Amino acid sequence: MSPRVALFPGTFDPITYGHTEIIERALALFDRVVIGVGINSQKQTMFTLEQRVRWIGLHFKNEPRVSVETFTGLTVNYARQIGARYLLRGLRSAPDFEYEKNIDLLNQHLSPEVDTVYLIATPATHHISSTLVREVIRFKGNLDGLVPDAIMAEIYADRLGATS
Ligand code: ADP
Repeated sequence: MSPRVALFPGTFDPITYGHTEIIERALALFDRVVIGVGINSQKQTMFTLEQRVRWIGLHFKNEPRVSVETFTGLTVNYARQIGARYLLRGLRSAPDFEYEKNIDLLNQHLSPEVDTVYLIATPATHHISSTLVREVIRFKGNLDGLVPDAIMAEIYADRLGATS
């Protein structure tokens, strides 16, 4: 049987405990999870592509079943290219659902052989979003419990000029 590969596409600006929790739970469902950082020239990000990829790699460095890649173009095309039969997405709220539903219907139209699997956020992380984390960073707030510790240290070093 061929391995079950899921592609978790996103911007990860930056990766948060919301993302890591979805990925860790997905490892019970799939043989491998490929985190695909989408390159979107239309989207302004707080952190560079290199930083975002590096931080994901740092967090999952001891998990051989998780890898991180970058991609351009349609997500379903990239999924096909890497042999991923599944896309993975997280759901926090009704607006998340509405947003995902439209993309899912389009993806079904474009590529019916790729299915999207959704995991609902747990109460521990459902309030976390990259958007809110960026606000906390902008206002120099405490990132404890929002992003993994190793990444937090690098974000502080990058944005706040601190080294510890
Ligand atoms: P995008 O720009 O594609 O929305 P994100 O990096 O913001 O990329 O999110 C990638 C995926 O992670 C999305 O499916 C999003 O719903 C999910 N996600 C983000 N934060 C959480 C969270 N706290 N709980 C569950 N899923 C989450």
